[in-house]
Amino acid sequence: MPKRDVVEGPSSESTWHDRPAEEALGAFEVSIDGLDDAEADRRRQLYGPNRLPEPKRQGPLLRFLRQFHNLLIYVLLAAAGITALLGHLVDTVVILAVVVVNAIIGFVQEGKAEQALKAIRDMLAPKATVLRAGRRRTIAGDEIVPGDLVILEAGDRVPADLRLLDVRGLRIQEAVLTGESVAVEKATDSVAVEAPLGDRRSLAFSGTLVAAGQGRGLAVATGAGTEIGRISSLIAEVRTTTTPLIRQMAIFAKWLTGFVLLFSALILVFGLTVAGYSFSEIFMAVVGLAVAAIPEGLPAILTVTLAIGVQGMARRKAIVRRLPAIEALGSVSVICSDKTGTLTKNEMTVASVATAQRLFTVSGSGYAPHGGFSQAGRDVTVADHPLLAELAKGALLCSEAELNRDGEAWTVVGDPMEGALLTLAGKAGLDLDYERRAHPQTDSIPFDSQHRFMASLHHDHDGKAEIFVKGAPERLLQMSSHQRHEDGAASPIDLNYWQEQATAIAARGQRVLAIASKTTHADHAELRFADVEGDLTLLGLVGLIDPPREEAITAVAECRAAGIRVKMITGDHAGTAAAVARQLGLENPDDVLEGAQIDELGTEELRRRASQVDVFARTSPEHKLRLVEALQDGGAVVAMTGDGVNDAPALKRADVGIAMGGKGTEAAKEAAEIVLADDNFATIAAAVKAGRTVYDNLKKAIVFLLPVNGGESLSLVAAILLGLTLPITPVQILWVNMVSSVLLAMTLAFEPSEQGVMRRAPRPAGEPILSRFILWRVGFVSVLFSIGIFGKFTLAQAQGASVEEARTIAVNTLVVMEIFYLFSVRYLHDTSLSVRGFLGTRPVLIAVVAVTALQFLFTYAPFMEAFFGTRPLSLLQGLQVFAVGVAVLLVLELEKRGRRALFGSEAAGRSPASDVEANAGRAP
Ligand code: ADP
Ligand code: MG
Repeated sequence: MPKRDVVEGPSSESTWHDRPAEEALGAFEVSIDGLDDAEADRRRQLYGPNRLPEPKRQGPLLRFLRQFHNLLIYVLLAAAGITALLGHLVDTVVILAVVVVNAIIGFVQEGKAEQALKAIRDMLAPKATVLRAGRRRTIAGDEIVPGDLVILEAGDRVPADLRLLDVRGLRIQEAVLTGESVAVEKATDSVAVEAPLGDRRSLAFSGTLVAAGQGRGLAVATGAGTEIGRISSLIAEVRTTTTPLIRQMAIFAKWLTGFVLLFSALILVFGLTVAGYSFSEIFMAVVGLAVAAIPEGLPAILTVTLAIGVQGMARRKAIVRRLPAIEALGSVSVICSDKTGTLTKNEMTVASVATAQRLFTVSGSGYAPHGGFSQAGRDVTVADHPLLAELAKGALLCSEAELNRDGEAWTVVGDPMEGALLTLAGKAGLDLDYERRAHPQTDSIPFDSQHRFMASLHHDHDGKAEIFVKGAPERLLQMSSHQRHEDGAASPIDLNYWQEQATAIAARGQRVLAIASKTTHADHAELRFADVEGDLTLLGLVGLIDPPREEAITAVAECRAAGIRVKMITGDHAGTAAAVARQLGLENPDDVLEGAQIDELGTEELRRRASQVDVFARTSPEHKLRLVEALQDGGAVVAMTGDGVNDAPALKRADVGIAMGGKGTEAAKEAAEIVLADDNFATIAAAVKAGRTVYDNLKKAIVFLLPVNGGESLSLVAAILLGLTLPITPVQILWVNMVSSVLLAMTLAFEPSEQGVMRRAPRPAGEPILSRFILWRVGFVSVLFSIGIFGKFTLAQAQGASVEEARTIAVNTLVVMEIFYLFSVRYLHDTSLSVRGFLGTRPVLIAVVAVTALQFLFTYAPFMEAFFGTRPLSLLQGLQVFAVGVAVLLVLELEKRGRRALFGSEAAGRSPASDVEANAGRAP
């Protein structure tokens, strides 16, 4: 690909806001059909992809050097300097070597974390709709070239700088560029050349969000040539790679470091004055103490654990946009989900049609237009019921989807419900292409879950103009004054009759849609809301089946077992919603709250109802916001799904906002913490499980690392204060902490979910990470470790070993205890004495083999002897060391068992049973 500096169109000097749109079209040599593929390709070669240059990343050398920017490392470097001055060159070399090895491990870890996050960013690449060779096409945003005709709809992100060609109520939120959060009304007229960015209403700028309306524009600048490209260095994406938990732990580590340094200084003074050590003796001991006590690896390990967890979630189609969401995910107690497409398959089929006189059943499945109509069990022909054909024609013309046929397989491009209407038209004997050509659409009001209907204006070639409207029956009944009869006549509308029909169809779990029409004058060119309010003629109702997803049924059950309440929020009819809720197995499917009722409830009353009710029907997006707030007021941690531009406030407000990756708008994705690549409810349940698992693993890493530091420090402090020989030398501690511990702890990032993870209640929000349980476990194991270290050291000496031998034994004991403890920590509450527990995971086994090999090297290699003062051990000594590890594991198992007996399920994670009670207690 040629590298080009100029990424703007024909005259890169110019801005286009001050010149007529036609001039721009001419300058970019593009017809009203848009570019053809060959030309688009050519321009792509010429101008390069529509991408902002990657923000400058730190080079590998700099990233490596940054690994040394750490208080402990500075302490160590200073120690290396002082030991060199003191003439202990071996110590100097060891300290430096360990520091470098540790930096390499950190560098690799960080690379892994970064890779994981980058892959996720790539999954979120936006799409754009363009007109090419006369056809609407959805392409990747970076394929846009100057001259492309781009179609904008509410919720889209503008993919390039556009000169607007037409607009319909187009309003764009340009905060990224101008900082102004109120959306700007756009127009097509040229504006003064010196107008500031915020006033260039004839342009739409790349990176801004369409808040409302529709529009079409010509791409005049792409990539770095766009306004956003010019300032991109300023807004280079700031992504936090931490969560409150990791920040908390980093702060904890800092405090601990400060405390340890202070304490070490005191010990130094104490050693020199009271205990009478020589400087070089006590200095090394104090360095050892600092190394022993500072959990320097912890924040890095936590970050990697988080990144690996997020990568695992992405593989399962849940893309995390904001890392802190992972923590919230683990404590989610209510999931509010869309119905259509998330809980259901969004594979629609028309199953019934109601007209003013009859209720027809429609046969056939899928989108193939094969099937017919029957009434009261008897087949009927469309010829005998011309109203069926009229209704089908209205449904067809009022749909923008396309049916595609590939052999026997029929698929929909566009809204599946509209696809089902096209299939219905086919079954009614209409020729889809012919009808669309005979009655071309001249204008439309697009569907919006706010007004819940869509209208379409058509002129046929005889100058007759007709409006077709389809939408929610309640809406259309308000908008209609008449109803059509089979003989073609119209009579005043019988509201009761239609309401009964709608309820009957909805009770079968079918989605109900009403279809109406109206003739209008021939020169009617622009469709307004007023044109369709009040005097439509209702043609009939259709009922559509949309079966629930099987995996959603399982996932709902799983969530309920995990103490999570699932609530369905839909724009559909109450009857349809209740029927689907029953099929899905929601807790309370029959008590339905409708949007209009929500409007009438006060805050207090809504809070009460919101926690009881699981099915919310005929809602519009602002109800979602009120529901989130009401549920949160009631103490719930809420996950909320959404796809439309109007869902953004609710997604932002929810503890975990979840956007649909497929049918969702960019605006919704922007507001969400998590994007579902497959729009599937089951993925939410999987994400919750993953969130709980990641949190568990973070906890495991903490519980694993801290006692190692604790055990070592306890041993050292005791030895110094009691004036005993150090059981482990400072360089040996360096070795254990910066090589063995880090390798072992890293494996915890790959721990799979514990078996009971979805059978315990959500973690209470705000539960401190250093809970009583964790503090107890850390303290207990620290003591165990120091007993192991001291005990083996003293025992070995009593058995006649030299100090060096005894220390080698102590170090090996510590590492073996760590390995066994790793197996224990893999299950915080459950027993580790199981086949699953012994087999471990691949990373665990690799790390254990690696650490064991390193320990053999450490013990038996002559050069290690020179550096670390080790001595080879006998087989018997080795076996004794191993036995201590086994003993530690058994003691820990006893402790787990004891806790389970003492605290019951509390220790094994709260059981769902206790949570159900808690929930019951919560709702008054
Ligand atoms: P959901 O929560 O199921 O996604 P929507 O807000 O999409 O609900 O739809 C609510 C109602 O609006 C539907 O029951 C249907 O009657 C009507 N409706 C949905 N999509 C369209 C459309 N494309 N055109 C006209 N009416 C629609
Ligand atoms: Mg919908």
